Amino acid sequence: MTQRKDELAGNLAKVEERITAACVAAGRKREEVTLIVVTKTYPASDVRILSDLGVRHVAENKDQDAAPKAAECSDLPLTWHFVGQLQTNKVRSVVGYADLVQSVDRSKLVTALSKEAVRAEREVGCLIQVALDAGERERGERGGVAPGGIAELADLIAAAPGLRVDGLMTVAPLTGEYAGRELAAFERLMDLSTDLRRAHPAANMVSAGMSADLEHAVAAGATHVRVGTAVLGVRPRLG
Ligand SMILES: *Cc1c(COP(=O)(O)O)cnc(C)c1O
Repeated sequence: MTQRKDELAGNLAKVEERITAACVAAGRKREEVTLIVVTKTYPASDVRILSDLGVRHVAENKDQDAAPKAAECSDLPLTWHFVGQLQTNKVRSVVGYADLVQSVDRSKLVTALSKEAVRAEREVGCLIQVALDAGERERGERGGVAPGGIAELADLIAAAPGLRVDGLMTVAPLTGEYAGRELAAFERLMDLSTDLRRAHPAANMVSAGMSADLEHAVAAGATHVRVGTAVLGVRPRLG
């Protein structure tokens, strides 16, 4: 093994242990939680190594980095998640490689995603990004719709050709009533997911938890955790 492969294998094993321990503590089965490795700012060569090591889900947050990387890795059996704030002028590119977009937070984005999915003859899974620090009906600083806007967006996605409502995503808020209370934030997301599933029973994905707080996400009931730093290392630049 190369040095980088050794390093990534070791980090992955540690993350795997953390997820397993969190599942045991929560009385959940390990298969209930899917690891998504956030490869943003890291090269395609790392994505290739991760794929060799058995990773099947990767995530990116900036189209200009993600598009060439996904093209270089198009031979790998990977599911690509887009998790960053998305401008409508990037939607055509993102739909070219993303199987799921986890950052759907406004109707304009739904319209653009639907149009491009139809054009590309692809089906794109959508997670609604929830901002737990936004006022009712507002959007969050770092993207996301306030809880009061979820139902309307879900109905729009469900009615949009080429799109599928898959569930909810959140990032633990740094401000507001949930600041520093990751478990409470993720439990709130689970309650919102229960509400969503009354109208959209198949929308059962709950994406929450990153390197620092994945245990809280698993404890709350998340189905997907998004881990970057703990697998790849501290990012060389902001992303
Ligand atoms: C970068 C990022 C992650 C991963 O964060 P780490 O702290 O590096 O694990 C997860 N989710 C989103 C939306 C991100 O942008």
